Amino acid sequence: MRDTAVFESVERELNRQRNNIELIASENFVSDEILELAGSVLTNKYAEGYPGKRYYGGCQYVDEVETLAIERLKKLFNCQYANVQPHSGAQANTAVYFAVLNPGDKVLGMSLADGGHLTHGSPVNYSGKTYEFHSYGVNRETEMLDMDEYKKEVETVKPKLVVAGASAYSRIIDFKTMAEIAHANGAMFMVDMAHIAGLVAAGEHPSPFPWADIVTTTTHKTLRGPRGGVIMTNNEELAKKINSAVFPGMQGGPLMHIIAAKAACFYEALQPEFKEYAHQIILNAKALEASLKEEGFRIVSGGTDNHLMLVDVKASCGISGKKAQRLLDEVNITANKNAIPFDTEKPFKASGIRVGTPAMTTKGFKEEDFREVGKIIAYRLKNEETDEVKNECLRRVKALTDKVTMYADIDYLKEE
Ligand code: PLP
Repeated sequence: MRDTAVFESVERELNRQRNNIELIASENFVSDEILELAGSVLTNKYAEGYPGKRYYGGCQYVDEVETLAIERLKKLFNCQYANVQPHSGAQANTAVYFAVLNPGDKVLGMSLADGGHLTHGSPVNYSGKTYEFHSYGVNRETEMLDMDEYKKEVETVKPKLVVAGASAYSRIIDFKTMAEIAHANGAMFMVDMAHIAGLVAAGEHPSPFPWADIVTTTTHKTLRGPRGGVIMTNNEELAKKINSAVFPGMQGGPLMHIIAAKAACFYEALQPEFKEYAHQIILNAKALEASLKEEGFRIVSGGTDNHLMLVDVKASCGISGKKAQRLLDEVNITANKNAIPFDTEKPFKASGIRVGTPAMTTKGFKEEDFREVGKIIAYRLKNEETDEVKNECLRRVKALTDKVTMYADIDYLKEE
């Protein structure tokens, strides 16, 4: 008998994905092929170890798949060694720390409050609990990375490892200069490019290679693959340590169905169409930025160079990020509340929302669509909470989402 309770929930989620304007900057919609591979029979296979050196029999076909994923990833980011087994971005970062650090070692990462990620040393995360993390952040005036402060921190802390990369930062990150400063002070330099990996792959953001010693990323954000993580390096010694840290250090069997989907993701990202996609992400972010600014919204750091921006809703219309998230949710626009630099609100309330363009760009939205999205956001957040405003927003959202079809052939409630 079919498990209707779960399938009904998944069908409702499918419809939410079809009908909502998805602005969560870390989300995307995978291709039908990636979806098929992520749900393939490879979920049945145990393959502890690496291609050619497994602890289980019957691995000849999954070896082919993992080798394809590794080779494509190396080509995509122009590097020499890749590990495609981390189950997530957090696992990838944890494996790197495990490979190159000892508990108590000094590390420097971007502050969570300024846009960094939990795994870059937050006290509530394994990273912050295990290593002595120090942080750098953005300048109070420009709200952009403060390279003078960064240099000072590297020189005074003398970390063993510097972590660059962010979850809520809308500007180009100068990996070359950051790496030079780290290396001049005897630190290893790691880049977690989770958010911008698709932009890097398409040449829309400077690559961390050849400057970084180690690069990690998730595969499910701008890169538009299945949920997961990967680790890359050009250094053979580091590559060996990283492989041992992932397996057997931290994980057991790799998720071979997800590795197959990762291989397909890297294939897609190597095609010329992906370059157009990544370029459109940026054009769309610029259009959304312009539209929100015309409506009087303050964008943190004055704008965006990438796929996302932080909107200071407290300064712009006197409401919290939490309330803005709810108001938008109610009109089928999905975004997340987000602390802004030097926020005076608690993170659960926050003064901002983070909005991004990767997911709706996948659905085919262009600049004019994002200009309209900006206007709908403004109409919703700047007006009273009346049914009239809500219904008008719902109508305009539907007019936009009706233009595109997602996953048209999927029907989780089909009769057996
Ligand atoms: N690193 C960065 C910069 C991220 O933004 C994220 C997720 O948002 C991660 C790592 C963690 O990825 P995951 O959720 O796959 O563990």
